Amino acid sequence: MNTLPSAERHDFPAGDGVPLQLTRYQGGAKGPVLLVHGAGVWSGMFMLPTVRENFVQHLVRHGYDTWLLDWRASVELPLRQFTLDEAARHDMPAAVRLVREHSGADSVQAVVHCAGSATFFMAMAAGLLPDVQSVVASQVALHHIVPPSTQLKAMLRLPDVLDITRDYLTPDEDPSSPLFQAAFGAFVDLWRHECDSTVCRRLTFMYGQLFRHARINRETHDRLDEQFGPCNMLTFRHLAQMARSGYAVGFDHGREENLRRYGRERPPSYLRAEHLKRPITFVSGEQNGTYMPASTELTYEWLREENGASYYRRKVLAGYGHLDTFMGSTASQDTYPVIRDALEAMA
Ligand SMILES: [Zn+2]
Repeated sequence: MNTLPSAERHDFPAGDGVPLQLTRYQGGAKGPVLLVHGAGVWSGMFMLPTVRENFVQHLVRHGYDTWLLDWRASVELPLRQFTLDEAARHDMPAAVRLVREHSGADSVQAVVHCAGSATFFMAMAAGLLPDVQSVVASQVALHHIVPPSTQLKAMLRLPDVLDITRDYLTPDEDPSSPLFQAAFGAFVDLWRHECDSTVCRRLTFMYGQLFRHARINRETHDRLDEQFGPCNMLTFRHLAQMARSGYAVGFDHGREENLRRYGRERPPSYLRAEHLKRPITFVSGEQNGTYMPASTELTYEWLREENGASYYRRKVLAGYGHLDTFMGSTASQDTYPVIRDALEAMA
Protein backbone atom coordinates (compact mmCIF):
# COMPACT_ATOMS: atom_id res chain seq x y z
CA MET A 1 0.00 0.00 0.00
CA ASN A 2 1.26 3.50 -0.81
CA THR A 3 2.14 5.64 2.16
CA LEU A 4 0.23 8.85 2.75
CA PRO A 5 1.47 12.16 4.14
CA SER A 6 0.37 12.65 7.74
CA ALA A 7 -3.25 13.66 8.15
CA GLU A 8 -4.17 17.25 9.02
CA ARG A 9 -7.44 17.19 10.93
CA HIS A 10 -9.83 20.15 11.18
CA ASP A 11 -12.87 20.16 13.46
CA PHE A 12 -15.21 22.95 12.44
CA PRO A 13 -18.86 23.96 12.78
CA ALA A 14 -21.45 23.91 10.02
CA GLY A 15 -23.39 27.12 9.47
CA ASP A 16 -25.89 26.06 12.14
CA GLY A 17 -23.21 24.93 14.60
CA VAL A 18 -23.30 21.16 13.93
CA PRO A 19 -19.74 19.85 14.44
CA LEU A 20 -18.14 18.52 11.24
CA GLN A 21 -14.67 17.29 10.27
CA LEU A 22 -12.26 17.75 7.42
CA THR A 23 -9.14 15.62 7.00
CA ARG A 24 -6.42 16.81 4.67
CA TYR A 25 -3.74 14.78 2.90
CA GLN A 26 -1.48 17.28 1.21
CA GLY A 27 -0.30 15.46 -1.91
CA GLY A 28 0.95 18.42 -3.92
CA ALA A 29 -0.01 21.53 -5.85
CA LYS A 30 -3.06 20.16 -7.69
CA GLY A 31 -6.51 20.87 -6.30
CA PRO A 32 -7.53 21.39 -3.58
CA VAL A 33 -10.08 18.63 -4.13
CA LEU A 34 -12.90 18.05 -1.66
CA LEU A 35 -14.31 14.50 -1.35
CA VAL A 36 -17.90 14.14 -0.11
CA HIS A 37 -19.23 10.74 1.00
CA GLY A 38 -22.79 9.37 0.83
CA ALA A 39 -25.36 8.67 3.56
CA GLY A 40 -24.81 6.00 6.20
CA VAL A 41 -21.05 5.86 5.55
CA TRP A 42 -18.12 8.15 6.27
CA SER A 43 -15.10 9.58 4.49
CA GLY A 44 -13.36 6.23 5.03
CA MET A 45 -15.15 4.99 1.89
CA PHE A 46 -12.46 6.89 -0.06
CA MET A 47 -9.54 5.33 1.80
CA LEU A 48 -10.30 1.66 2.31
CA PRO A 49 -7.49 -0.25 4.05
CA THR A 50 -8.44 -3.41 2.13
CA VAL A 51 -7.49 -2.47 -1.46
CA ARG A 52 -4.06 -2.14 -3.02
CA GLU A 53 -4.54 1.54 -3.75
CA ASN A 54 -7.51 3.51 -2.46
CA PHE A 55 -8.87 6.74 -3.93
CA VAL A 56 -7.07 9.06 -1.53
CA GLN A 57 -3.73 7.33 -2.16
CA HIS A 58 -4.41 7.62 -5.88
CA LEU A 59 -5.08 11.36 -5.73
CA VAL A 60 -2.10 12.00 -3.43
CA ARG A 61 0.18 9.98 -5.70
CA HIS A 62 -0.90 12.25 -8.54
CA GLY A 63 -0.14 15.43 -6.61
CA TYR A 64 -3.56 16.44 -5.27
CA ASP A 65 -4.14 18.42 -2.09
CA THR A 66 -6.93 16.09 -0.94
CA TRP A 67 -9.61 17.00 1.62
CA LEU A 68 -12.07 14.47 3.05
CA LEU A 69 -15.28 15.87 4.47
CA ASP A 70 -17.28 14.15 7.19
CA TRP A 71 -20.60 15.99 6.88
CA ARG A 72 -23.56 15.45 9.18
CA ALA A 73 -24.45 12.16 7.46
CA SER A 74 -21.12 10.62 8.55
CA VAL A 75 -21.34 7.54 10.76
CA GLU A 76 -18.23 8.87 12.52
CA LEU A 77 -20.26 11.81 13.86
CA PRO A 78 -23.11 11.64 16.39
CA LEU A 79 -26.38 10.49 14.85
CA ARG A 80 -28.83 13.31 14.22
CA GLN A 81 -32.10 13.73 12.34
CA PHE A 82 -31.72 16.09 9.39
CA THR A 83 -33.12 16.93 5.97
CA LEU A 84 -30.77 17.28 3.03
CA ASP A 85 -31.89 20.94 2.81
CA GLU A 86 -30.19 21.58 6.16
CA ALA A 87 -26.98 19.84 5.08
CA ALA A 88 -26.98 21.67 1.73
CA ARG A 89 -27.40 25.04 3.39
CA HIS A 90 -25.08 24.59 6.35
CA ASP A 91 -22.47 21.86 5.69
CA MET A 92 -21.27 22.27 2.14
CA PRO A 93 -20.61 26.05 2.14
CA ALA A 94 -18.79 25.80 5.50
CA ALA A 95 -16.60 22.96 4.24
CA VAL A 96 -15.65 24.77 1.02
CA ARG A 97 -14.88 27.92 3.01
CA LEU A 98 -12.58 26.04 5.39
CA VAL A 99 -10.70 24.33 2.55
CA ARG A 100 -10.16 27.69 0.88
CA GLU A 101 -8.99 29.32 4.09
CA HIS A 102 -6.43 26.66 4.91
CA SER A 103 -5.21 25.95 1.38
CA GLY A 104 -5.15 29.58 0.29
CA ALA A 105 -6.86 28.58 -2.96
CA ASP A 106 -9.39 30.83 -4.69
CA SER A 107 -11.62 27.88 -5.56
CA VAL A 108 -11.90 24.14 -5.04
CA GLN A 109 -12.69 21.10 -7.10
CA ALA A 110 -14.97 18.43 -5.69
CA VAL A 111 -15.68 14.72 -6.10
CA VAL A 112 -19.10 14.03 -4.61
CA HIS A 113 -20.92 10.73 -4.22
CA CYS A 114 -24.53 9.56 -3.85
CA ALA A 115 -26.47 11.46 -1.14
CA GLY A 116 -23.38 13.65 -0.70
CA SER A 117 -23.59 14.53 -4.39
CA ALA A 118 -27.34 15.13 -4.20
CA THR A 119 -26.79 17.50 -1.27
CA PHE A 120 -23.80 19.24 -2.85
CA PHE A 121 -25.81 19.87 -6.02
CA MET A 122 -28.71 21.25 -3.99
CA ALA A 123 -26.27 23.70 -2.41
CA MET A 124 -24.80 24.66 -5.81
CA ALA A 125 -28.24 25.04 -7.42
CA ALA A 126 -29.25 27.34 -4.55
CA GLY A 127 -26.25 29.55 -5.33
CA LEU A 128 -24.42 28.71 -2.10
CA LEU A 129 -21.18 27.41 -3.65
CA PRO A 130 -19.90 30.04 -6.07
CA ASP A 131 -16.27 29.16 -5.27
CA VAL A 132 -16.52 25.55 -6.42
CA GLN A 133 -14.65 25.55 -9.69
CA SER A 134 -15.60 22.12 -11.07
CA VAL A 135 -17.22 18.90 -9.90
CA VAL A 136 -17.19 15.17 -10.54
CA ALA A 137 -20.67 13.89 -9.62
CA SER A 138 -20.77 10.19 -8.83
CA GLN A 139 -24.01 8.29 -9.56
CA VAL A 140 -26.61 10.97 -8.85
CA ALA A 141 -26.95 14.75 -8.88
CA LEU A 142 -30.35 16.46 -9.17
CA HIS A 143 -32.43 13.68 -10.77
CA HIS A 144 -33.19 10.63 -8.64
CA ILE A 145 -34.04 7.53 -10.63
CA VAL A 146 -34.06 4.42 -8.43
CA PRO A 147 -34.63 0.72 -9.20
CA PRO A 148 -38.21 -0.65 -8.94
CA SER A 149 -37.62 -2.28 -5.53
CA THR A 150 -36.50 1.07 -4.03
CA GLN A 151 -39.34 2.91 -5.76
CA LEU A 152 -41.81 0.43 -4.25
CA LYS A 153 -40.48 1.14 -0.72
CA ALA A 154 -40.69 4.87 -1.43
CA MET A 155 -44.26 4.60 -2.78
CA LEU A 156 -45.31 2.51 0.24
CA ARG A 157 -43.94 5.33 2.44
CA LEU A 158 -41.80 2.76 4.25
CA PRO A 159 -39.41 5.37 5.76
CA ASP A 160 -42.43 7.35 7.07
CA VAL A 161 -43.90 4.20 8.63
CA LEU A 162 -40.59 3.17 10.22
CA ASP A 163 -40.05 6.73 11.46
CA ILE A 164 -42.94 6.22 13.90
CA THR A 165 -40.87 3.79 15.94
CA ARG A 166 -37.30 4.06 14.64
CA ASP A 167 -34.77 6.94 14.57
CA TYR A 168 -32.44 5.17 12.17
CA LEU A 169 -31.61 2.01 10.25
CA THR A 170 -28.18 0.41 10.38
CA PRO A 171 -26.78 -2.64 8.62
CA ASP A 172 -24.56 -3.54 11.57
CA GLU A 173 -25.26 -5.51 14.73
CA ASP A 174 -26.78 -3.03 17.16
CA PRO A 175 -26.40 -3.61 20.93
CA SER A 176 -28.77 -0.72 21.67
CA SER A 177 -31.59 -2.36 19.71
CA PRO A 178 -30.85 -6.11 19.55
CA LEU A 179 -34.41 -7.36 19.06
CA PHE A 180 -35.22 -5.04 16.16
CA GLN A 181 -31.85 -5.73 14.55
CA ALA A 182 -32.30 -9.52 14.85
CA ALA A 183 -35.76 -9.25 13.30
CA PHE A 184 -34.39 -6.97 10.53
CA GLY A 185 -31.64 -9.55 9.88
CA ALA A 186 -34.09 -12.47 9.84
CA PHE A 187 -36.35 -10.52 7.45
CA VAL A 188 -33.64 -9.74 4.91
CA ASP A 189 -32.27 -13.31 5.19
CA LEU A 190 -35.59 -14.58 3.77
CA TRP A 191 -34.63 -13.32 0.31
CA ARG A 192 -32.18 -14.85 -2.13
CA HIS A 193 -28.77 -13.19 -1.93
CA GLU A 194 -25.38 -13.40 -3.54
CA CYS A 195 -23.62 -13.89 -0.20
CA ASP A 196 -24.23 -15.06 3.37
CA SER A 197 -23.48 -11.75 5.13
CA THR A 198 -26.45 -10.37 7.07
CA VAL A 199 -24.74 -6.92 7.14
CA CYS A 200 -24.54 -6.99 3.34
CA ARG A 201 -28.19 -8.11 3.08
CA ARG A 202 -29.39 -5.33 5.37
CA LEU A 203 -27.42 -2.85 3.23
CA THR A 204 -29.18 -4.07 0.10
CA PHE A 205 -32.55 -3.61 1.80
CA MET A 206 -31.63 -0.08 2.90
CA TYR A 207 -30.09 1.24 -0.31
CA GLY A 208 -30.56 -1.28 -3.13
CA GLN A 209 -27.56 -3.16 -4.54
CA LEU A 210 -24.61 -1.03 -3.40
CA PHE A 211 -21.88 -2.84 -5.31
CA ARG A 212 -21.28 -5.71 -7.65
CA HIS A 213 -19.87 -8.53 -5.55
CA ALA A 214 -17.45 -9.50 -8.30
CA ARG A 215 -15.88 -6.04 -8.03
CA ILE A 216 -14.96 -6.06 -4.32
CA ASN A 217 -12.49 -8.35 -2.62
CA ARG A 218 -13.27 -10.69 0.25
CA GLU A 219 -11.56 -8.58 2.89
CA THR A 220 -13.56 -5.48 1.93
CA HIS A 221 -16.76 -7.56 2.03
CA ASP A 222 -15.85 -9.08 5.43
CA ARG A 223 -15.25 -5.59 6.85
CA LEU A 224 -18.32 -3.75 5.52
CA ASP A 225 -19.36 -2.95 9.10
CA GLU A 226 -16.30 -0.66 9.39
CA GLN A 227 -17.61 1.52 6.55
CA PHE A 228 -21.35 1.57 7.16
CA GLY A 229 -23.48 2.55 10.13
CA PRO A 230 -26.75 4.25 11.08
CA CYS A 231 -28.66 6.46 8.65
CA ASN A 232 -31.30 8.63 10.29
CA MET A 233 -34.95 8.28 9.26
CA LEU A 234 -35.50 11.94 8.33
CA THR A 235 -32.81 11.63 5.65
CA PHE A 236 -34.39 8.37 4.42
CA ARG A 237 -37.75 10.14 4.22
CA HIS A 238 -36.26 13.02 2.20
CA LEU A 239 -34.47 10.63 -0.17
CA ALA A 240 -37.74 8.70 -0.62
CA GLN A 241 -39.59 11.95 -1.40
CA MET A 242 -37.03 12.74 -4.09
CA ALA A 243 -37.25 9.18 -5.46
CA ARG A 244 -41.03 9.66 -5.75
CA SER A 245 -40.77 13.06 -7.45
CA GLY A 246 -37.79 12.01 -9.62
CA TYR A 247 -35.73 15.11 -8.82
CA ALA A 248 -34.37 17.18 -5.92
CA VAL A 249 -37.06 18.98 -3.94
CA GLY A 250 -37.15 20.59 -0.53
CA PHE A 251 -38.37 18.36 2.29
CA ASP A 252 -42.14 18.04 2.35
CA HIS A 253 -43.09 19.06 5.89
CA GLY A 254 -46.84 18.93 5.19
CA ARG A 255 -49.12 21.68 3.89
CA GLU A 256 -49.17 23.98 6.93
CA GLU A 257 -45.45 23.86 7.62
CA ASN A 258 -44.62 24.14 3.90
CA LEU A 259 -46.68 27.34 3.74
CA ARG A 260 -44.81 28.71 6.72
CA ARG A 261 -41.32 27.73 5.51
CA TYR A 262 -41.61 28.00 1.75
CA GLY A 263 -44.63 30.29 1.29
CA ARG A 264 -46.28 27.56 -0.80
CA GLU A 265 -48.15 24.30 -0.25
CA ARG A 266 -45.63 22.07 -2.03
CA PRO A 267 -41.86 22.15 -1.46
CA PRO A 268 -39.78 23.99 -4.08
CA SER A 269 -37.71 22.24 -6.74
CA TYR A 270 -33.91 22.52 -6.86
CA LEU A 271 -33.92 22.30 -10.68
CA ARG A 272 -32.46 25.78 -11.15
CA ALA A 273 -29.66 25.81 -13.69
CA GLU A 274 -28.30 29.35 -13.46
CA HIS A 275 -25.73 28.57 -10.76
CA LEU A 276 -24.56 25.36 -12.44
CA LYS A 277 -22.67 27.03 -15.30
CA ARG A 278 -19.34 25.42 -14.48
CA PRO A 279 -17.45 22.30 -15.60
CA ILE A 280 -19.19 19.18 -14.31
CA THR A 281 -18.43 15.56 -15.15
CA PHE A 282 -21.10 13.01 -14.30
CA VAL A 283 -20.10 9.38 -13.73
CA SER A 284 -22.45 6.43 -13.34
CA GLY A 285 -21.77 2.74 -12.90
CA GLU A 286 -23.29 0.97 -15.87
CA GLN A 287 -24.86 -1.62 -13.54
CA ASN A 288 -25.71 0.66 -10.64
CA GLY A 289 -28.45 -0.92 -8.48
CA THR A 290 -28.85 2.04 -6.10
CA TYR A 291 -29.31 4.97 -8.49
CA MET A 292 -29.96 4.00 -12.10
CA PRO A 293 -27.57 5.50 -14.69
CA ALA A 294 -30.56 7.48 -15.99
CA SER A 295 -30.15 9.67 -12.88
CA THR A 296 -26.98 11.38 -14.11
CA GLU A 297 -28.13 11.16 -17.72
CA LEU A 298 -31.20 13.29 -16.97
CA THR A 299 -29.26 15.97 -15.07
CA TYR A 300 -26.60 15.99 -17.80
CA GLU A 301 -29.15 16.38 -20.62
CA TRP A 302 -31.15 18.98 -18.70
CA LEU A 303 -28.06 21.11 -18.01
CA ARG A 304 -26.85 20.89 -21.62
CA GLU A 305 -30.25 22.15 -22.71
CA GLU A 306 -30.32 24.94 -20.12
CA ASN A 307 -26.69 26.14 -20.17
CA GLY A 308 -25.19 24.78 -23.38
CA ALA A 309 -23.18 21.60 -23.90
CA SER A 310 -19.70 23.00 -23.35
CA TYR A 311 -19.58 22.69 -19.54
CA TYR A 312 -20.68 19.09 -19.17
CA ARG A 313 -19.29 15.59 -19.68
CA ARG A 314 -20.68 12.20 -18.74
CA LYS A 315 -18.91 8.84 -18.39
CA VAL A 316 -20.51 5.44 -17.88
CA LEU A 317 -18.24 3.04 -15.99
CA ALA A 318 -18.59 -0.30 -17.77
CA GLY A 319 -19.10 -3.30 -15.49
CA TYR A 320 -19.35 -1.20 -12.32
CA GLY A 321 -22.20 -0.68 -9.87
CA HIS A 322 -22.56 2.03 -7.25
CA LEU A 323 -19.94 2.06 -4.48
CA ASP A 324 -17.49 -0.28 -6.20
CA THR A 325 -16.60 2.87 -8.17
CA PHE A 326 -14.55 3.73 -5.06
CA MET A 327 -14.37 0.43 -3.15
CA GLY A 328 -13.67 -1.97 -6.02
CA SER A 329 -10.52 -4.10 -5.83
CA THR A 330 -9.35 -2.87 -9.26
CA ALA A 331 -10.97 0.58 -9.14
CA SER A 332 -7.49 2.15 -9.06
CA GLN A 333 -7.01 0.87 -12.62
CA ASP A 334 -10.58 1.19 -13.89
CA THR A 335 -12.44 4.11 -12.35
CA TYR A 336 -9.98 6.36 -10.47
CA PRO A 337 -8.18 7.34 -13.70
CA VAL A 338 -11.53 8.34 -15.24
CA ILE A 339 -12.26 10.63 -12.27
CA ARG A 340 -8.70 11.99 -12.12
CA ASP A 341 -8.71 12.70 -15.88
CA ALA A 342 -11.96 14.60 -15.40
CA LEU A 343 -10.45 16.68 -12.58
CA GLU A 344 -7.39 17.49 -14.69
CA ALA A 345 -9.46 18.34 -17.77
CA MET A 346 -11.67 20.68 -15.72
CA ALA A 347 -8.83 22.33 -13.74
ZN1 LIG B 1 -22.47 -9.52 0.17
